Amino acid sequence: MNQPLNLPPLTVKGRVEAVAAKLADIDVDALVVTNLTNIRWCSGFTGSAGTLVISTDQAILITDSRYAEQAPVQTQAAGGSIEVRINSQFVAAVAEAVGNASVVALEADHVSWANQRRLDDSLSAALVDTSAIIAELRSVKDPAELARIETAAKIVDAVLGECCGHFMRGVSELEIARMLEDGMRLAGANGPAYETIVASGANSALPHKTPSPKRLFDGDLLVVDAGALVDGYRSDMTRTFMVGEPDERALELYELVRKSQAAGVAAVRPGVAAGEIDKVCREVITEAGYGDAFTHSTGHGVGLNIHELPAIRRNNQAELLAGQVITVEPGVYFSGYGGVRVEDTVVVNEDGSRPLTQFSKETSWQ
Ligand code: ZN
Ligand code: ZN
Repeated sequence: MNQPLNLPPLTVKGRVEAVAAKLADIDVDALVVTNLTNIRWCSGFTGSAGTLVISTDQAILITDSRYAEQAPVQTQAAGGSIEVRINSQFVAAVAEAVGNASVVALEADHVSWANQRRLDDSLSAALVDTSAIIAELRSVKDPAELARIETAAKIVDAVLGECCGHFMRGVSELEIARMLEDGMRLAGANGPAYETIVASGANSALPHKTPSPKRLFDGDLLVVDAGALVDGYRSDMTRTFMVGEPDERALELYELVRKSQAAGVAAVRPGVAAGEIDKVCREVITEAGYGDAFTHSTGHGVGLNIHELPAIRRNNQAELLAGQVITVEPGVYFSGYGGVRVEDTVVVNEDGSRPLTQFSKETSWQ
């Protein structure tokens, strides 16, 4: 039976006001929010169609008649001051909502070319593009959001603990992925946060390999990258296991990646550039002579989306903020042999950081 989860209520109180303050800073009168995840974060509305118009003095959620009941209920429950209007005419509804605004911003990465053209034809306002206004605000989590991410992380810790005894010769990657995802649901998660990665042997050399019918062999490296979804929020963790007795090369690579990951996590604190975490992780691996085998960036923010701000990648000057939730996940990959990755989700706090995913790295070698 599914476990009921005891979560504090989510509130969106103050969020559209925070967005409006950012708009005032850049002399924009209204923002047309078309990214559904951003709409959810601002208003609490989880429907699949909607537009949120945020101006300096009001926020209007426009959706269609399918959501005539759900939208007011959700926005009120979330505690925001949002007016709901039912209108399926996108352009007319936006024009009405922005009123006589003279500068209107669009979410550049989330509006179609066609809608941009139609708005440009219909509004008398100047259109400007913005990106990341809400994504940046969203990157800092409040306690209710953290509780969901932490619960998702704990569920995967427990499920991995229950399942890892089965990571042995003869079991298929698909069977392991199903075991993990079923376990997450039974523990109260809404499902996996993303398609669980279970990659063994040579497959583990591909960082984003989806599970296959391949069965485990003794000597395989086994990369398991799993997260859970809890009330919209996600966790993200990778552990690398060894099937049978680990060989010396695998042990050497594992210790190296662990060292790199620990150094990266130790460098996390408010005020440090996101790119610095990438640099710290990369240096450990480069010094050992495997720099070319670390083929992806070091991490990413996690929340309503599995990949969100901040990007923990080379040269990102953006400073980490207390309350951000990020992953640190260095890895090394060798075509035809396999790969090793170690990943935790951590929350940035005044002391540095606190790990939310806590599955042991010692027992990775059974
Ligand atoms: Zn991951
Ligand atoms: Zn990740």
